[in-house]
Amino acid sequence: MFKINENYLKLPGSYLFSTIAKKVAAYQQANPDKTIIRLGIGDVTLPIVPAVVEAIHKAADEMGHAETFHGYAPDLGYDFLREAIVQKDYMAWGCRISPDEIFISDGAKSDCGNIQEIFSPDSRIAVCDPVYPVYVDSNVMAGRTGEYDEAKGMWSNVIYMPCRSENHFVPELPKETPDLIYLCNPNNPTGTTLTREQLKVWVDYANRIGAVILYDAAYEAYIAEPEVPHSIFEIQGARTCAIEFRSFSKKAGFTGVRLGFTVVPKDLMCGDVMLHSLWARRHGTKFNGAPYIEQRAGLAVYSEEGNRQVMEQVAYYMRNARVIYNGLKEAGYMVYGGVNSPYIWLKTEQGMTSWEFFDHLLEQANVVGTPGSGFGPSGEGYFRLTAFGTYENTVEAVERIKALRK
Ligand code: PLP
Repeated sequence: MFKINENYLKLPGSYLFSTIAKKVAAYQQANPDKTIIRLGIGDVTLPIVPAVVEAIHKAADEMGHAETFHGYAPDLGYDFLREAIVQKDYMAWGCRISPDEIFISDGAKSDCGNIQEIFSPDSRIAVCDPVYPVYVDSNVMAGRTGEYDEAKGMWSNVIYMPCRSENHFVPELPKETPDLIYLCNPNNPTGTTLTREQLKVWVDYANRIGAVILYDAAYEAYIAEPEVPHSIFEIQGARTCAIEFRSFSKKAGFTGVRLGFTVVPKDLMCGDVMLHSLWARRHGTKFNGAPYIEQRAGLAVYSEEGNRQVMEQVAYYMRNARVIYNGLKEAGYMVYGGVNSPYIWLKTEQGMTSWEFFDHLLEQANVVGTPGSGFGPSGEGYFRLTAFGTYENTVEAVERIKALRK
C-alpha cells in the first residue's frame, strides 16, 4: 500500500488570496454600483515592452525553420544569457561572478522552493517574519519545520526573526543557531530593505557559524537608494556563504512568460563538496532548461532599448508607490516600504487587526489590499498595498482612503 508524504497534510490551508477574492465578490454582489479598486495583487499589469516582444517574435520564427530550430536548451541555460547577466547584473556592480555560476530557470519561485532539497533534512531554517510564504512552506513539505501551532501561526522548528516598526524591519541575529537563513531584499511584503552595512552583519554571521544565506532579490530592479545593495555578492565574504535568486517577473513583466536565475558561487563549500555541483546535478536531473524563446526574451531585457523600456515601467510603478506612500502619510498613517520596492506596508487604524482593516477599507473606501497577518504572525496589525495598478486607480484609491480619515 502506498503512503503519501504526510508533511503535506501539515500545511495549513493558504486561505489568504481565496478569502480576499470571496470577500470582494460578496461585497460587489451586494453593492453592484460600487467601483472597487484592487491594490492587493503582487502581479504586474503593464504589457511586455516592445523590444522584448520583438525578440519573442524573432525567436518564434527561428523555431519554425530547420536551420535555426532549437530543441532542449542546455539545462543550466544558454551562454548568451548567462554572459549578459554576468556583465549587466554583476560586473556592473563590481561583483565577481562567472557565467557558469548562473543557473537559468523558469522563475524565482521554483528555485526558492527547490533549493532546500540540496541541504540535509535536519537543517534548521530561519526566516524573517512577515515574509514571502514559499520559504517556510517548501520546508514544511520536506519535513523540517516541526509542528504547527495554529493559535500562534508558527512552526515549532522554525526560527522566526520578527520585522516590525520597533526594529525598523531589520531582522536581528537569532538567539538559536540556524543552518539556512532566508533573506528577501527588498522584502515582500514590507517593502523594506537591508543596507550594505546591515547585510554585511549577516554575511559575517553566516560565515562565522557555517550557515548559508538564501538571498531572494526578486525586487532588485526597484532599488533606488544607493546604500541598498543590488546583489548580496556586493558584500565581501558572500561567495562563501550565499546563494542568490533573481526573477524577470517584476522587472520586465515576465510573470506569465516565466524566467529567472540562481547564482551559486563555486566557493560555497560544505567540507570538500561544492554546493554548485549539487545544484547543477539537481537542475540537470529535474529541469530540462528554460525555453529558448524565453531566454531570447530575457536577453532583450539587457539590450539598451529593452533595458530603457523595462526601467520606464519600473518608474511608472514607483510613481504609484510614491502616490500611495505620500498620500497615506499625509492622512496620518504610519507607512513603510515603497521607496525601493513596489510594496507599501502600513499600520492599520488603531486597534484593528489586519482583517478588520481589510473589511474597513473594502466597505468604506472600496479599496482592496492584503492583510499583513497573511504573511506571518508579526504581520498582524499591518496591511500591504501594491503599486502595480494603473496610475489613475492608484490616485483615486489614495483619495478615497484619505477621505475616510477626514
Ligand atoms: N520571490 C519573491 C519575494 C516574490 O514576491 C515572488 C513573487 O511574487 C517571487 C519570488 C516569484 O518570482 P517568479 O515569478 O520569478 O517565480
